[in-house]
Amino acid sequence: MREYLSNIWNSIWTPLVGMRLTWKRLFIPAVTLQYPEERWQLPPNSRMQLFVNMDDCIGCAQCERACPVNCITIDTVKAIPEDVKETSTGHKIRLHVTKFDIDMAKCCYCNLCTYPCPTECIYMTPSFEDSAPDRFDLLYHFTQIPPEKAAELEEKARKFDEAEAASKAARGRERATAGAV
Ligand code: SF4
Ligand code: SF4
Repeated sequence: MREYLSNIWNSIWTPLVGMRLTWKRLFIPAVTLQYPEERWQLPPNSRMQLFVNMDDCIGCAQCERACPVNCITIDTVKAIPEDVKETSTGHKIRLHVTKFDIDMAKCCYCNLCTYPCPTECIYMTPSFEDSAPDRFDLLYHFTQIPPEKAAELEEKARKFDEAEAASKAARGRERATAGAV
């Protein structure tokens, strides 16, 4: 009989002990949020998705060199003098950036790439919800120059360099002839 009553007591008492935390939390305000309808206010210096304003990128590759995990890839082509433009910060754009990729799947969000940028055109945005089912979707392409246009610019730069070299050689010959007279 005693064992029988003890079993009844245990079957009542044990769930009450197990639910102790539940009872305690039942009467205090919740600390969880109903994401994605509700979101935490993140601090202003939070590190999130990177963005590059290509209009201000001069192709100096300082960000690429600063990246500790090599997730930035930049290709450039020299701009001929007529094509040199300016950024909004007044820096001359002497290189066409034909490739500017950031592999966000590799990025460790250290923010080191943003500090050396002379035009402050690479920065972290407030966006942090850009997960993708395929990791190749996290390879972000920022350049606005299509491959055909890049090939055209490369050819233009090559011809310009050839013309410059020919003109320099001609000037050298002229000086040599003048010196000999
Ligand atoms: S945040 Fe760090 S890891 Fe990511 S691209 Fe910049 S330097 Fe590389
Ligand atoms: S450091 Fe800035 S300007 Fe230089 S390549 Fe990187 S993003 Fe462009």
